[in-house]
Amino acid sequence: MARLVKKFGGTSVGDIGRIRNVAGRIKKAYDEGHEIAVVVSAMAGTTNKLIDFCRDASSLHDAREYDTVVAAGEQITVGLLAICLQEIGVPARSFLGWQVAIKTSSIHGSARIEEIEGAALEQCFKENRVAVVAGFQGIGADGRLTTLGRGGSDTSAVALAAALKADRCDIYTDVDGVYTTDPRIVPLARKLDGITYEEMLEMASLGAKVLQTRSVALAMKYGVRVCVLSSFEDVPGTLVAGEDEIMEQEVVTGIAYTSGEAKVTMVSVKDRPGKVAQIFAPLAATNINVDMIVQNISGDGASTDVTFTVPEEDLKRAVQVMEANKESIRYDHLLFDDNVVKLSVIGVGMRSHAGVAQLMFDTLADKGINIDVISTSEIKISVLIQADYTELAVRALHTAYGLDADKA
Ligand code: ADP
Ligand code: ASP
Ligand code: MG
Repeated sequence: MARLVKKFGGTSVGDIGRIRNVAGRIKKAYDEGHEIAVVVSAMAGTTNKLIDFCRDASSLHDAREYDTVVAAGEQITVGLLAICLQEIGVPARSFLGWQVAIKTSSIHGSARIEEIEGAALEQCFKENRVAVVAGFQGIGADGRLTTLGRGGSDTSAVALAAALKADRCDIYTDVDGVYTTDPRIVPLARKLDGITYEEMLEMASLGAKVLQTRSVALAMKYGVRVCVLSSFEDVPGTLVAGEDEIMEQEVVTGIAYTSGEAKVTMVSVKDRPGKVAQIFAPLAATNINVDMIVQNISGDGASTDVTFTVPEEDLKRAVQVMEANKESIRYDHLLFDDNVVKLSVIGVGMRSHAGVAQLMFDTLADKGINIDVISTSEIKISVLIQADYTELAVRALHTAYGLDADKA
């Protein structure tokens, strides 16, 4: 007998037929004698609709009321899944976040789980019942309902698995595992048997939305073994675990991309000590996260251009901040562009292999794709390119790094 947390995403619970399918899967595991807590998302599309309602109601809506509205989607699916389970003879009950209780910070809209009280779920297991828990939501220190940011049900599931000391956390979704890159973009993407926490963390934070970044960070911190699987097919999925458990280690494991960034260039900045600090201090003070940075070397030694990226949704604010500080920073003018994509190759093997970056640069050059900004870490290389070239670049790199699946 094992203790398992199983999470089903939006497409997997998209209608009653699919919820019945999920119930059937849970019954199978329940009949094998396992203790099961299930985490569910809202039906696909519901959360988007609820967010639109809030935006329509007011462009400056109260974040606490936003959470009350957008958390509603998961309330529907937990109840429906519990009903479908009961219908096929599996004793089950639903739990909203506060009933568990999943305690979070009070940063409404992107709260962090701080503590989970497991007593109610332990009681459920004792009574031989399946616990069906609403993902994406919790309760803040202010006693108000909170949500965990888009894709947050993954994080609910992993946090629950850690709190309940579960043997495994199964994440069921609409693809049958983690692929070398998004299989919807690259038909030759290859399913991975396993991926290390570190690599998955980079893949998720660099754009692979198959797992929410925070869920991977939690899994790594608490050593939760995560399995990504299909809700619709009975095929082996992908294990996300520590380096000791993952045998398959290529130099490059995967390619991710995100269009969520925008590029700002400050033209002709006076080049002297302290200048960069002066540029980035006001951005930090307004809580704008700067990601990639490049400073050109000036020909005349007197002035230089500084380019950096910020989250796309912060571009307007970043430009305002830069313009407000134009006098003190002293630059000529600003250029900005949000039609850019950050493309990354990821792999723990990079630590011990040279030439990985060179292959990326050569491949992009061969396709005539210009690189705007580059940033690297121990296990990843990221470049900023024009968005129009995304698919071409991802496919070319996928082939260049030998990641293409063998055609059947
Ligand atoms: P769910 O609703 O089940 O949480 P998501 O839509 O959040 O599902 O995540 C699954 C999607 O992630 C897939 O449909 C796929 O298009 C996308 N995806 C992006 N990168 C990858 C990758 N490397 N491997 C698998 N899926 C990926
Ligand atoms: N329903 C939420 C969302 O769409 C949470 C999730 O699906 O993980 O973001
Ligand atoms: Mg998701």
